[in-house]
Amino acid sequence: MKVRVGIEGITMDSAHYTLSSYADSQIHGHTYIVNVEVEGEVNEKSGFVVDFNLLKKIIKETIQEWDHKLIIPKVDLDKSRFEGPFRVDYKVIDAPFPTAEYIGIEIAKDIYLKLNKKYRILLKIYEGKDSYAIIEYP
Ligand SMILES: [Zn+2]
Repeated sequence: MKVRVGIEGITMDSAHYTLSSYADSQIHGHTYIVNVEVEGEVNEKSGFVVDFNLLKKIIKETIQEWDHKLIIPKVDLDKSRFEGPFRVDYKVIDAPFPTAEYIGIEIAKDIYLKLNKKYRILLKIYEGKDSYAIIEYP
């Protein structure tokens, strides 16, 4: 029997832009809220699908890579230059646009790999408080 266990409400503050939309082509920021469910069989020896402590640790580590970063598509890296008294940390995404959809896919994929491809990942990512994408990976 499949059981889904989840962690909700992990947040990251990141900047991005989306060149496919004029309004969103300006660099701006969001608080993203990430909810993750992991689907699998209950392990009879532990009683867990995945230990919540382990799951939370993996999700937080994954989200940490995006937090307080400018998310920039790989294809735009060579075209971009930033100078100033501020610090610019990038998170490069191997996708055409750094939208919630692609960011969610990347995060779901990372969690899937960190859990050794053993579980199906269901991820809901909010971009702000009322807009979201739902990803099922793989
Ligand atoms: Zn945006």
